[in-house]
Amino acid sequence: MIAPQAPQYNSTLLLSFCIDHSPQAGQGGRPFSLGATLGPIRRFFLRGIYHPPLGFLTFGILSDILDIRGYLKTLLHHYCEVIVQLRMDMDCVVIGAGVSGLSSAIRLLESGHSVRVMAREFSPDLVSDVAAALWYPFLAHPIEKTDRWGAETYTELMRLGEEEPMSGITMRFGREYLREVVELPGWRDNITHFRVLDSGEIPEGWIFGWEFESPIIEMHHYMPWLLQRTRDLGGKIEECVVEDLAGITAEVIVNCSGIGARELCRDTEVKPVRGQIIYIDQDPGFGRFDQQPETLTYTIARRDCTVLGGTAQSDDWSLELRDSDRETILQKCEAVWPELDRSKIIGESVGLRPSRSEVRLESEKINDTLIIHNYGHGGAGVTLSWGCADEVVSLIEES
Ligand SMILES: Cc1cc2nc3c(=O)[nH]c(=O)nc-3n(C[C@H](O)[C@H](O)[C@H](O)COP(=O)(O)OP(=O)(O)OC[C@H]3O[C@@H](n4cnc5c(N)ncnc54)[C@H](O)[C@@H]3O)c2cc1C
Repeated sequence: MIAPQAPQYNSTLLLSFCIDHSPQAGQGGRPFSLGATLGPIRRFFLRGIYHPPLGFLTFGILSDILDIRGYLKTLLHHYCEVIVQLRMDMDCVVIGAGVSGLSSAIRLLESGHSVRVMAREFSPDLVSDVAAALWYPFLAHPIEKTDRWGAETYTELMRLGEEEPMSGITMRFGREYLREVVELPGWRDNITHFRVLDSGEIPEGWIFGWEFESPIIEMHHYMPWLLQRTRDLGGKIEECVVEDLAGITAEVIVNCSGIGARELCRDTEVKPVRGQIIYIDQDPGFGRFDQQPETLTYTIARRDCTVLGGTAQSDDWSLELRDSDRETILQKCEAVWPELDRSKIIGESVGLRPSRSEVRLESEKINDTLIIHNYGHGGAGVTLSWGCADEVVSLIEES
């Protein structure tokens, strides 16, 4: 049988490569005459390719003669060293200590990079602390990416809920009500429970809806847990205002400045979408939602209270609580939860969602520094956090 050319060439290359990379080469190692030995070995080896049992025998004999196992071991060792160096070496600064910044910092630290988190404000003074917080892609684009980041985050939040009790994550059922029949969300196959509601399960005023199971993230537990995890992994925390990305000395800067990116990157696409919420000491059993920006209604049952919302007021910078908004929220929630008892209200809050036409998750180079932007998550910063953090790490590895 005439052996085809390609494997012949490859086997020769393989043998020459092993010989050239021998740990003994040039160090007084075993003498070896390539011309005299290669022909018969190559023929024997080629036969082995087409007859597997003979192949194993050939490899065994060659291993003993040429110490191929030794060469392979050395090669593998060098390869692993290179990989470890690649994974260990980057000196990273993360700007922002919100959910996006800390999740990114944790993933970078877990991947072996060194991390400094620089932020102007910390928990509990961030919009991340105001988040209600339900896993649900809302007010964030582009859908094909947010569905993927959302699905990855769902899995991670569920795992944290099971394995890290201090993170404050529980799984709850909720029902989304809609005023028109719409296409089912793309993320429905990536969550633990999703079904379309029967007409008898939909309150008056709505005509369509679905039930889903989703993580509820109690941010007053989750934010301290994220910060502690960052510290435990060796991350350094620094309070400071960053005026200019070019002024930071680091190999990599991960920009998670949320609404601060408007000034820091002169990105006028970043706009606030104001959200006001109410805390009530009463449990609705299952969450009830109408999450269209114009009619936004939600009852998010945490273990300590239920969060009622909401408002989505675009380009509104006010952090003052408004009586009119409180009344609107209560009326909207009573429509989906008639048993709501106003005497059980225990507090309220307001925050500005860092909205953008699209989440900005991309890299650029300024001088020799790699910048990864990760901001503009709108009403879904928690929902997308781990998926985006994983992509931050991938972008660094690809660079
Ligand atoms: C009422 C309400 C309800 C919400 N509910 C949900 C929900 O149920 N689910 C969900 O997924 N999301 C929800 N969100 C949205 C969520 O809160 C945000 O998407 C998320 O918190 C954004 O996180 P971030 O880390 O990007 O920004 P932030 O939390 O704002 O953090 C930004 C960080 O950057 C720092 N920074 C900014 N500029 C600079 C600078 N120049 N120098 C140094 N540091 C700087 C800040 O100090 C801060 O540390 C809700 C929001 C609101 C208002």
